[in-house]
Amino acid sequence: MEYSDSVEKSAEYLRLALPLMSRQAAALHPVSYAVWYEYVAGRNAALKAQIDDVMRGGGVLDERATLELFRKHIAELDHELAQRVREGFQKVMADMSHSATQAGDHAHQFGGVLDQLSEGLAEAAPGVGLGEGIDTLREHTRTMQGAVATLKGRLDDSRREIEQLRQEVAKAREDALADVLTGLANRRGFDLALGARLAGREPGEAGPSLLIVDIDHFKRVNDSYGHLFGDKVIRAVAQILKDNVKGKDTAARYGGEEFVILLPDTPLDGARFVAEKIRATVEKCRIKRADSQETVATVTISLGAACYRGGESASDFVARADKALYTSKNRGRNRVTLDGSS
Ligand code: GH3
Ligand code: MG
Ligand code: MG
Repeated sequence: MEYSDSVEKSAEYLRLALPLMSRQAAALHPVSYAVWYEYVAGRNAALKAQIDDVMRGGGVLDERATLELFRKHIAELDHELAQRVREGFQKVMADMSHSATQAGDHAHQFGGVLDQLSEGLAEAAPGVGLGEGIDTLREHTRTMQGAVATLKGRLDDSRREIEQLRQEVAKAREDALADVLTGLANRRGFDLALGARLAGREPGEAGPSLLIVDIDHFKRVNDSYGHLFGDKVIRAVAQILKDNVKGKDTAARYGGEEFVILLPDTPLDGARFVAEKIRATVEKCRIKRADSQETVATVTISLGAACYRGGESASDFVARADKALYTSKNRGRNRVTLDGSS
């Protein structure tokens, strides 16, 4: 998000934002301020609507809600970045086209000079006026060379600028769709992958199948060994998921200690096989604490699996896998449940 408000305007926003901000439960840090600045500036309609909803219900924003608003409406790859990139490309293309037009004009003039010269040479007696003609030709050739060199320089600059913009967009997109702790896709990345998969699906095609994975009694892990160790467990489970998916599969961190795996072209039987393999690998895994070599009690996971039914919505599909996961939890955890067998 870029801000171009004047000092006076931003001072006015500060005066408006402060009282609103200080009524919330969240501390007065830069993330809170960004949220309330956007709110009072009134340019971020979705953010404003969400905050208005909370305030209408008499609620206040705590740390988590504030951070969520910031992530959802301010930090993500947004329209402004897309706009900036679009403008960047437009400028580059306009510069290139201007240089090409200039070089074209010079070439046209150069052609005219050559025509005149050849006519003059044909009419003139041998040797007469040739020196003068050659001087003119040399001068125009130099102009032409200069124009071509300028065009080449501009094209090189443009190529560099385009490459830089491309990298910027790729990086911003990657950051917006990745989970920082595990390096897997985040929920948004997963939603996009699922949407794209369902949109490209042929009728009658098998799958995709979906696994939902949740770490069992994770609260106990945090309570016994602390959050840092909890994070280490989350990373270890993520690594096992990565090791067990291939090519077109998407593994993502869906929420705190919950993961999803999308398996394209896979019927429920295939999904069960992958799920069981992951479950058994996690069960066998021993995670050591950084401050000692003592191995920690095993961590287990529960899984739910569902296969896509033609025509259903993405959220109904996810809900069926989620229901199967909860059956795994109710039946004692550390197991796989297939949708339809609950
Ligand atoms: P269940 O077997 O029913 O899933 O039990 P559970 O304790 O795993 O279930 P619950 O969903 O109640 O607790 C999940 C806990 O995960 C609560 C939350 O504090 C913790 N958690 C969520 N995100 C993170 C994280 O990023 N790091 C750590 N260390 N803990 C997290
Ligand atoms: Mg859990
Ligand atoms: Mg959970």
